[in-house]
Amino acid sequence: MKKIGFIGLGNMGAPMAANLVAAGYEVTGFDVVDVDVEGVGKASDAAGAVSNQDVVITMLPAGDHVLSVYNDVLTQANPGTLFIDCSTIDVESAREAHALAGKAGQASVDAPVSGGVGGAVAGSLTFMAGGSKDAFAAAEPLFDVMGQRAVHCGEAGAGQAAKICNNMILGASMIGVCEAFALADKLGLDRQAMFDVVSTSSGSCWSMNTYCPMPGIGPQSPADNGYAPGFAAPLMLKDLTLAMTAARAADADTPLGQHAKDLYDAFVKSDGESLDFSAILKHVAPKSFPAS
Ligand code: NAD
Repeated sequence: MKKIGFIGLGNMGAPMAANLVAAGYEVTGFDVVDVDVEGVGKASDAAGAVSNQDVVITMLPAGDHVLSVYNDVLTQANPGTLFIDCSTIDVESAREAHALAGKAGQASVDAPVSGGVGGAVAGSLTFMAGGSKDAFAAAEPLFDVMGQRAVHCGEAGAGQAAKICNNMILGASMIGVCEAFALADKLGLDRQAMFDVVSTSSGSCWSMNTYCPMPGIGPQSPADNGYAPGFAAPLMLKDLTLAMTAARAADADTPLGQHAKDLYDAFVKSDGESLDFSAILKHVAPKSFPAS
């Protein structure tokens, strides 16, 4: 498993491909935009990136891109090639991608990631994977290079299901932490005292402890850097939208997820487009934190 085709060399794909090169893999990349990644060979089209490879990795914006690339290239690859899709996409498209791969005689894994661009650069991503046990086992050595943890979540689409459930919690918990800071301020509670209590009490969560939305409180986070992303608000909105689409399709009750999606929608439409998702602090609590 030494030869890898990599399609989609954007913010995430480029550093992931670079880490594979650094680990000794021979990587051939393709992106619709001309991108240079040191050590990654350039194919002139997607078919050129998949021919004669052991593995093909895709890191693309959305389900339509993945299905269109799969339809174009699955039959151009050697039979038995392992296709790993690391993009965050809707569960239905992920299942369809697996079905297309199976029909073409290829093995497949859906393996979206958590950890963002920082994790992609550092090789510390978490992979959540769906597909057969054999396909997951074949992909594991590559997950070890690009990440620090990989969980086999189940059959086709299970990785995407885990990803959107995780990010639905993240979106709602970030808003909850922002509201708590807003109320604490109005009650005259010191922000540091609030952090010291909550981060070691039952309200503790990643949004408070690791990624605190209040500048100057807790470990360094995008709030301490003018809310430059980090994890951009439009990506949070994308994941919440995928979660709500899946909830509708599966007839699941997710009222808080829906409300979080609506709040991020309004935030991105107002001034959140290029900000980190934690910048929703001022949007949800303008009475406590007026926009400067
Ligand atoms: P990006 O927009 O920077 O990269 C996507 C790349 O795909 C672009 O370079 C684009 O030119 C290329 N592309 C689009 N269509 C293509 C095609 N048909 N053939 C070849 N290349 C094509 O996005 P990103 O931030 O790298 O995110 C990639 C995926 O990872 C998304 O699904 C995103 O939701 C997910 N993700 C991103 C983050 C993050 O923090 N950026 C975190 C976790 C997951």
